[in-house]
Amino acid sequence: MSTPIAIGIDLGGTNLRTAVVDREGRIIVKRSEPVDVHGGPDVVIARIVQTIDALLAEAHLPRSDIGGVGLGTPGPLNLREGVIIQAANLPGWKNVPIRDRLRNALQCPVLLENDANAAAYGEFWKGAGRDGSDMVMLTLGTGVGCGVVLDGRLLHGHFDNAAELGHMIVVVDGLPCACGQRGCLEQYASAAGVARRVMAARGENTVIDSAYVAGLARSGDAVCGRIWGEACLYLAVACVNIQHAYNSAAIVFGGGMSVAGDFLLDGVNDHLRRQRWSLADDLPALRLAELGDDAGVIGAAGLAWCAYAT
Ligand SMILES: [Zn+2]
Repeated sequence: MSTPIAIGIDLGGTNLRTAVVDREGRIIVKRSEPVDVHGGPDVVIARIVQTIDALLAEAHLPRSDIGGVGLGTPGPLNLREGVIIQAANLPGWKNVPIRDRLRNALQCPVLLENDANAAAYGEFWKGAGRDGSDMVMLTLGTGVGCGVVLDGRLLHGHFDNAAELGHMIVVVDGLPCACGQRGCLEQYASAAGVARRVMAARGENTVIDSAYVAGLARSGDAVCGRIWGEACLYLAVACVNIQHAYNSAAIVFGGGMSVAGDFLLDGVNDHLRRQRWSLADDLPALRLAELGDDAGVIGAAGLAWCAYAT
C-alpha cells in the first residue's frame, strides 16, 4: 500500500507555490511559478490542478495518494465556509468558494487557511518554533503578516481574523494605514514601511528596500539609523503587548526585515528589555524564521495532515 502525501499551496497576488509534502513535513517536490490572478478563480484553479498533476508525475505518485490539500491565500476569509471574502492582492475576487471548487476539481479534501497563518504553522511545525507548543510569527514584508499558535493550534477567533497583529496600534494618531486606522505596527516595522519612511524623510523617489536601510543604519547613517531604531522600538512594544495577550515562549520574525538577522534581533531585544513587564520572568525568545519561502506550503500541508490524516 502506498504512503499518502499532502499538497501545500501558497497562492499570492503574483506567485503560486505548490509542494508535495510527506507526513514528516519534508518537501518531496515543489514548484514556484508566476500566476495571473486577474484571470479570475477559474483560471487559477485550473492552473493549480495542472501544477499538482505535474508535480505528482515528477514524483511518480498517483492522485489517489493525496491525503489532503492545504491552500493558503490572502484574506479576509470565511474559514468555515472555505470562502475568500476579498483580498487586496486578488483584485475582483469577491466571495469565492475556493475550497469547494478546488475540492470538486481534485476530488479530495481541501482546507483553506489565511496565508500568514499557514506560514506561521509551517515555522511552528518544522522551523523556528518546532521545539515548543506555542509561537507567534510576525512576517515583516509588504505588511506585517501574523499567526499565533497556542497549545499546538492556530488561533482563528469568531470572525476568523484573530492575530491581525500588523494592525496593532503602536502610535496613537500615527501614520495612516490602508486598513483605515492610524499608527498600525506595519506602517513602522514592515520592510515596505521602513523603506517608505526613509524615502519620505529624504524627500526622494528612488526606490529602496529594508536591506538597504539596515545596511546604512549599521554604518552610522543618521536617517536610516533613526528609522531602523524606531522599527525596533515599535516591534519591542508589539512584543510586550503580544506577550501579555498570548504568553508564548517564542516570537519569530520572517520576511524582508529578517534578512538583517542579529541586527534586527539585537535591536528589538535592547528595547524589549527596557519595556518589559517585571512581575514575572516570561520574556519570549526572539528568533529568525528558518523556512523562508517554503513556510507557507509546508504549513498548509501540515494543516491538511492535521485535518485529514487517518
Ligand atoms: Zn492598519
